[in-house]
Amino acid sequence: MTPTKIKVRDKEYLDITWNNGSSESIKLSNLRNSCPCAVCSSEKDEWGDSYIPLYTKEQLTITKMNIVGNYALSIEWEDGHNTGLYDFAYLKSLFENFPVEKMK
Ligand SMILES: [Zn+2]
Repeated sequence: MTPTKIKVRDKEYLDITWNNGSSESIKLSNLRNSCPCAVCSSEKDEWGDSYIPLYTKEQLTITKMNIVGNYALSIEWEDGHNTGLYDFAYLKSLFENFPVEKMK
């Protein structure tokens, strides 16, 4: 599956519509916390279960998104962090792990 539409909503959620018509949302804080890049994962390994991320507004603001090679989404955050490459299967698993209550 590939995304047909990706957008940030209310500065708090990322909405993705997939090419099968389904759409899903995730909180930006969960997305940032799940950044798969080497820097972030080694940071989490170091802290283990006691890892409690605190984010600034810049770290939770997306400035740029790119589809990479038709298999992944690259995200650049306002604090300059841009090494996270979220492949679509990984994104799918995040939507399952961090479900957002459908509102209203
Ligand atoms: Zn990262």
